[in-house]
Amino acid sequence: MSETKKGKISKVAGPVVVAEGMAGSRMYDVVRVGELNLIGEIVELDGDLASIQVYEETTGLGPGEPVVDTEAPLSVELGPGLIESIYDGIQRPLDSLVKKEGAFMSRGSAMPALAREKKWHFKPTVQKGADVTPGDVIGEVEETILVKHRIMIPQGVRGKVQEIKEGDFTVEQTAAIVADEAGKRYEIKLMQKWPVRNARSVRRRLVPNKVLITGQRVIDAFFPLAKGGTACVPGPFGSGKTVVQHQLAKWIDAQIVVYIGCGERGNEMTDVLIEFPQLKDPRSGEPLMKRSVLIANTSNMPVAAREASVYTGITIAEYFRDMGYTVALMADSTSRWAEAMREISTRLEEMPAEEGYPAYLGARIASFYERAGRAECLGKPDREGALAIIGAVSPPGGDLSDSVVQATLHVVKVFWSLQGRLAYARHFPAIDWLTSYSFYKQYLKEGFEDKEQGAEMEGLTVEAMGLLEEEAKLLEIVRLVGAEAISPRDRLALETSRSIREDFLHQNAYHEVDTFTSLNKQYEMLKTILHFHNEALSAIGTGVETAQIFKLPIREDIGRAKYVPEEEIDKIRKIRGTISKQMKGLQASAVA
Ligand code: ADP
Ligand code: MG
Repeated sequence: MSETKKGKISKVAGPVVVAEGMAGSRMYDVVRVGELNLIGEIVELDGDLASIQVYEETTGLGPGEPVVDTEAPLSVELGPGLIESIYDGIQRPLDSLVKKEGAFMSRGSAMPALAREKKWHFKPTVQKGADVTPGDVIGEVEETILVKHRIMIPQGVRGKVQEIKEGDFTVEQTAAIVADEAGKRYEIKLMQKWPVRNARSVRRRLVPNKVLITGQRVIDAFFPLAKGGTACVPGPFGSGKTVVQHQLAKWIDAQIVVYIGCGERGNEMTDVLIEFPQLKDPRSGEPLMKRSVLIANTSNMPVAAREASVYTGITIAEYFRDMGYTVALMADSTSRWAEAMREISTRLEEMPAEEGYPAYLGARIASFYERAGRAECLGKPDREGALAIIGAVSPPGGDLSDSVVQATLHVVKVFWSLQGRLAYARHFPAIDWLTSYSFYKQYLKEGFEDKEQGAEMEGLTVEAMGLLEEEAKLLEIVRLVGAEAISPRDRLALETSRSIREDFLHQNAYHEVDTFTSLNKQYEMLKTILHFHNEALSAIGTGVETAQIFKLPIREDIGRAKYVPEEEIDKIRKIRGTISKQMKGLQASAVA
């Protein structure tokens, strides 16, 4: 055993503790601080002085108390038991801690992240004698009804399988033995560890060119996300960031969801903790938790734990990507993470950059989002995994020039701009159609099973967006010269744009049917709205008055199409037939 490095506290400044006598320690080593054994991490070294960010409340700590270096970086436990867990920022199980110690857990608590007693049934997928290298899948555990947990060979292990057997194991028992050429034996367990600040490796990164369907119309049709893609959702207080993140957690077409809640408001995370476990996966009818991992930071938790939570979350998400799954990670809100960085930086007396954030803010944000992606996973069998990151940002006053927003927009490929004025007008999701963007839009057409339909959808979205842009210009003209001054065609453009906004973009998260729309239904809805537009255009061409067109009874059906259940999608198609008929009727009476 190496001799333990031990120092002494010399100063306590909020979440940061300075210890002396720490020569020989390494950056990012985890240390135990004070008599209470609080968990901390070395974030600065200067001679024998170490600055430590402490993940627990530091009140009561005093100079002279011991600091012990564990000589290991901050790591997470990866293995069966992750799914359905609710962790704090450093992967302490909140649910079991709360059960054990009550709502206010005591400091220095050391509950393992993965339960030690629980046995999991392991089924090997390779046999004795197989050659294995890091990332190889050697067996499976049915973790929940929705998730098959693939057990992989950890980094640093390669050789021949000497022993492997089906059976029930705890995460610490040996499920297989691998020996390398030199005869060195490795015991493979269901659990492995990984340092959170290092990205897990993949064989090859791939272009994120497959859309990740969310069932949210404004997102899928106009600003789609991709498997392994990155998105930023900034918006002022109350604009719907959390609702968007929850909708994605519920509906996104991913096998695994990792949700990091960064204590936006005092009781918001508590809401998540209570609400989330009650949600059902709409596809399987099973609790959503059966495919989710929650990381929760309530606003009363120390800032350093918040700083760590995004790394804990992303590492868990990468681990499931490595199994070959499509994973989605939501972080709400990354502003709280950035503020934690700012506070720690201030305590370290670093030179502040813009808005008091540290100069490395942009680099940290970039390296976080760079851990997203679609990839060929390491090891056999060949498999592809994807990890998408969707980060909410809550800039003060919704100001998009905010440092965190700007640093995020620098790296992400999708921007869903939530506007206070849309939320105020109850237009939800309050995603501004004029300023939002997605670099993945080009892949939408391939998201359709029917390629022709996909190509057509692409055309429909271009046409719809064209109308919305025209609307913005026309509204300005109407404001200046009045509605009477514009042509019937322009009046129609305004009317159709209104329909696109209200009948298509607007989507009620709390309506049983409206909450999710398949790509097929999105196509039928948009096609119907634009069919009305084009039929109306020809009617106007033959002298029909716009007032009459706008009075057609079929417009009500167009407005109600969003409430048509997926199984009755044919009803939406039929609306188009009726539109043509009613429009012909108008034309006939105009000619007569
Ligand atoms: P933020 O996280 O940006 O502060 P929230 O996500 O908490 O805002 O949303 C505020 C409120 O807006 C919600 O409580 C809800 O009433 C309403 N809202 C947001 N999005 C939707 C939606 N898609 N459908 C219906 N209501 C919504
Ligand atoms: Mg919120």
